[in-house]
Amino acid sequence: MLLLGAPGVGKGTQAKVLMAEFAIPQISTGDLLRQHRREHTPLGMMADELMQQGKLVPDDLVNQMVAERLAQADCDRGYILDGFPRTLAQAAWLDDYLERTESAWPVVVISIRVPYDDLLQRITGRRICPDGHIYNIYTQPPRVEGICDVDGKALTQRNDDTEAAFEQRMKEFHELTAPVVPHYQGQGRFAEVDGLRSVDEVTEAIRTELERLRAQASESIETAGNR
Ligand code: AMP
Repeated sequence: MLLLGAPGVGKGTQAKVLMAEFAIPQISTGDLLRQHRREHTPLGMMADELMQQGKLVPDDLVNQMVAERLAQADCDRGYILDGFPRTLAQAAWLDDYLERTESAWPVVVISIRVPYDDLLQRITGRRICPDGHIYNIYTQPPRVEGICDVDGKALTQRNDDTEAAFEQRMKEFHELTAPVVPHYQGQGRFAEVDGLRSVDEVTEAIRTELERLRAQASESIETAGNR
């Protein structure tokens, strides 16, 4: 499953819920890059400044990183890609990769939409714990300020969750990522959901769309079989 959408629409939050529900891993290219940065790998060092400025990391590097992750055994039953593909070149690479590796499952693409002003509040209010639990100081604060409810660790703000970096990330999104939507739209496995609702309501909307896409796919297989 691919989760598409601007920064702050809730891709990471939804991916975590769906990952538990379908027992398949969430693969967030942003998280993988942040891990490289923490470990000071050559990729992490190269990505660091671009990420801080809200710019995309070059396609070749990200594709290579994704290829390495998808080759791991836990991806054998499928996976949720969160934040990838983010450019048409990445989408073309993924098409090719899935064909080359003869992936057995169909790709389902969910695009989440949220208006600009709400995204800004979500991004600047976002706080995260080192284990990935996500809060928002305006809409979903932790019980104790600055502390994760789940594991008691200190919450921090991502260094690209500033207003300046957000503006650059939105610019990159409109210029480079938005064209990825039409790439998938015509393929019958694409759905768009309104992300301006509670986490549970958005998850429910995604479930409904997945069910609709599944019914649609089995109908077209039946029709083809009857011909
Ligand atoms: P995210 O955690 O998805 O908001 O990503 C944080 C940052 O990581 C982005 O602003 C980019 O700098 C970088 N990044 C994440 N995913 C990609 C990708 N698929 N292609 C290029 N850069 C990416």
